[in-house]
Amino acid sequence: MIDFANILFAGPCNRFCPFCIGKEVPDRVNLKNLDTYPPRNWSAFVAECHAHEIREIVFTGTTTDPHLYKHEARLIHRVREDLPGAKISIHTNGALSLKKIDTFNLYDRACISFPSFNTTTYAAMMGVPQVPDLGRLLERAEIPVKVSCIINEHNAHEVEPFLLRLSELGVQRVVLRRLYGDTRTWDILPGLTPVRYYRENPVYEIYGMEVTWWNFETTTSRSINLFADGTLSTEYLLTEVTKREFA
Ligand code: SF4
Repeated sequence: MIDFANILFAGPCNRFCPFCIGKEVPDRVNLKNLDTYPPRNWSAFVAECHAHEIREIVFTGTTTDPHLYKHEARLIHRVREDLPGAKISIHTNGALSLKKIDTFNLYDRACISFPSFNTTTYAAMMGVPQVPDLGRLLERAEIPVKVSCIINEHNAHEVEPFLLRLSELGVQRVVLRRLYGDTRTWDILPGLTPVRYYRENPVYEIYGMEVTWWNFETTTSRSINLFADGTLSTEYLLTEVTKREFA
């Protein structure tokens, strides 16, 4: 069962996350493709998507952010031509989303990796202190925007005010997640009872938002991944990594 397909970009990034998952995948697949159109092995990727009747295509990255891809809008249109009916989403750090708002709104939905509103915390987790203006982005977004937040020692103590602020900005869906392989437990939602489970991950209703506490170890999602060097893979570790860790 394949749930979705990732188009992965590689190259220099505008953030410097210490935990960048690009370091966890083989160097050979991180061949820069920010100015390669279409991405390497495109025809085989499209054929695989048709063969598996994939309905969701994700623009994401191993070592960079999809907004840094030079042909972003053109490739979105190409996906709509080659895979008609498929939903297209972006997983981004959000640093360029406002600047590229017209392109951002070409997607069907977006997921922003956003760990904190606090500049010190943000810098500890993303490598620079410039926190994207999430409020302004949400005002200008014409597509659903989900917030994805890695939880670690830098921000585990600020989850409650973080969620409150997201709610005040109008966010409706949040995913809190541990880094892949991080087995530490974080008591971030004390006393709350899940309203349901999604793929074995507890889902809560908090401040009017749907908040999922994602546990990688139990996920069952599968994906096709088009790596930057043209490698096509459904290999499980890479699947796990690509689904939730990349920007
Ligand atoms: S995790 Fe994402 S945003 Fe952070 S450095 Fe890596 S590619 Fe860039």
